[in-house]
Amino acid sequence: MPDGQGSPDLATLLSEVNGGIGGSVTPPIVQSSLFTFDSYAEFEDRMSGHSDSALYTRVQNPTVAAFEAMMAKAEGGEAAVGFASGMAAISSALLAHLKPGDRVACVEHVYPDTYRFMERILRPFGIETDYHACADLEDDPELLKGVKVAYLESPTSVVFKALNLPKVAAHARRHGVTTMIDNSWATPVFQRPIELGIDIVIHSASKYISGHSDTVAGVVVSSKDHIARLRDLTLPLFGGKLAPFEAWLLIRGLRTLVPRMRQHQETADLFVDRLSALPFVKRVNSPSRNTVPGLGGRSGLMSVEFDDSIDVARLSDTLRHFRLGVSWGGFESLILPSRIGLAQAGDFNSMQEFGVSPQLVRLSLGLEGADDLWADMESALDKSKI
Ligand SMILES: *Cc1c(COP(=O)(O)O)cnc(C)c1O
Repeated sequence: MPDGQGSPDLATLLSEVNGGIGGSVTPPIVQSSLFTFDSYAEFEDRMSGHSDSALYTRVQNPTVAAFEAMMAKAEGGEAAVGFASGMAAISSALLAHLKPGDRVACVEHVYPDTYRFMERILRPFGIETDYHACADLEDDPELLKGVKVAYLESPTSVVFKALNLPKVAAHARRHGVTTMIDNSWATPVFQRPIELGIDIVIHSASKYISGHSDTVAGVVVSSKDHIARLRDLTLPLFGGKLAPFEAWLLIRGLRTLVPRMRQHQETADLFVDRLSALPFVKRVNSPSRNTVPGLGGRSGLMSVEFDDSIDVARLSDTLRHFRLGVSWGGFESLILPSRIGLAQAGDFNSMQEFGVSPQLVRLSLGLEGADDLWADMESALDKSKI
């Protein structure tokens, strides 16, 4: 179980050297689209399913496989499959399990593009999604009746509400519902959903898994059977594969995941304490460890709701260490005012749909150091009073 300080087992696991060429501590980037065979018999064995050697990089690649093996171990799953992005992982996992007429139960305040996927792709194909508050998913044992897939995030995006995963997993099991969770916020350092009874774990590896804001990637971890289904259906047929170079960058990211998460947590703890004490702060959204079973720590992504005495635009422009931008989970600190999300052009804006305050800002606390970041925030807030 995660211990809130980063499991030492996980740190050891992620720094394991697994057989690089000539004693190298990192695996080679196998930048080849195809893999050939020495004989007719070997080729035939591979094509008839009697061997699983590499064939073609759309479906399999040794560098990608090395990353997948690390992720499967880190999340406590049997197998994993990499994708070109978090959204490729999310859409491929969902479509491998759904057909027209099926219903999805989704937690409110999911990642906005996941919401758009449900509404713009699944709904026109005859797959309906209902959105539920965390408390309803936990407390209504009949809510998941007739549902095919329960799609979860804990904590959720934007407002960071944590779900009692063992409870939801138990309801789902009773109704034969497949459970999926986006675990990008907590990472396996702070939460291992498979150990809590969830079937399928998904990551936007672009965030903490990469940790360096230089990669867009995704991964799904689950049982052998679930992963085999993805490998058979949505990986080869949509073709959203993870590239070898990206996989290599992600292995590099995983090596430092535990100490990075520890540092993010130290800064986040300080920010939650200090922000909560300010009179013009209405709410700090950041679940503390153990607010729900199995949540062993707090990452560096949170949101803060100010009262009307703070000019959010001025705050954004005054901060020196926080750059304005989307995404999160890198070394650098970021601020994302919800006013900008609310003003985002186009239909299917979940921020408008589910009611987010325009005085809310999302902060991604980077690795700069807690004291420097807090000094910056304190002085910028001082200059942003209306
Ligand atoms: C960024 C993000 C995604 C999408 O991941 P990409 O790698 O950008 O496709 C999914 N879920 C959450 C919670 C995210 O923050």
